[in-house]
Amino acid sequence: MNLDCQSHLLKNYFDLLNRVDAHIQQVEKNYPGKIACKKGCDSCCRPINLFPVEAVALSAAFGKLDKFSKELVMAGLEKKAKDCPLLINRQCLLYGARPIICRTHGYPLYFKKKIKSMVDFCPKNFKGVTSFPREALLDLEQLNILLTAINKQFLVSIETTKPIADRIPVSKALGLLDEIKGDWFL
Ligand code: SF4
Repeated sequence: MNLDCQSHLLKNYFDLLNRVDAHIQQVEKNYPGKIACKKGCDSCCRPINLFPVEAVALSAAFGKLDKFSKELVMAGLEKKAKDCPLLINRQCLLYGARPIICRTHGYPLYFKKKIKSMVDFCPKNFKGVTSFPREALLDLEQLNILLTAINKQFLVSIETTKPIADRIPVSKALGLLDEIKGDWFL
């Protein structure tokens, strides 16, 4: 799978990332001084599982890292560290390419639990805020529906000689493009 093909196949996913980022930026603009998320805070970082489309995007970004950074990550993987393997010195090594869940953590997320409507956000953020207007909320169910559809479209765009896992942990996603060479076709 070459880079041009990746860009074409991942376009819908990157469009969704841009939409999520635009939403987050708007929330940050509307709540000045209320967001504690910053470089070095890794409270949200934990091992996560990705859809194949996300795993391929992360693998492509990992492939562009310098040798030293890759070795740092691989050393962590070998030690079977319990944190996300991209978390080095409390910072995400692929912050610009981080998956959607990592972008949304800490911000007001709307979801339903049984029939109850819930809003969740990091308690370090939005101190003193007691309610949010609808436009400040990211609807988790809608986001999952979109991501599922994008992943489905991605999967029908490729052919593979091997079954693809529904979810791929970050530790396996990083080397995915190398691993699938010769098994996935366009
Ligand atoms: S990918 Fe980056 S932001 Fe997401 S959990 Fe791993 S280190 Fe944290």
